Amino acid sequence: MGYTAGCDGCGSTCRPAPALLCQFSPEFFRTSSLGGYLSDMGFDEGDTVTLCGDCTREVLE
Ligand SMILES: [Zn+2]
Repeated sequence: MGYTAGCDGCGSTCRPAPALLCQFSPEFFRTSSLGGYLSDMGFDEGDTVTLCGDCTREVLE
């Protein structure tokens, strides 16, 4: 049984694989006011964010 990723955007299961894996820029996380908001959401600067195809399209469109 392989690794199954959950989308950090909508919570759905990413099949067959996540569309986008990304990390916060440490400088952004530490200096932007949004960093505190993201921290309140449970993210940390070293975290990898996983997005499904639909959420990736929403972010990049
Ligand atoms: Zn999603």
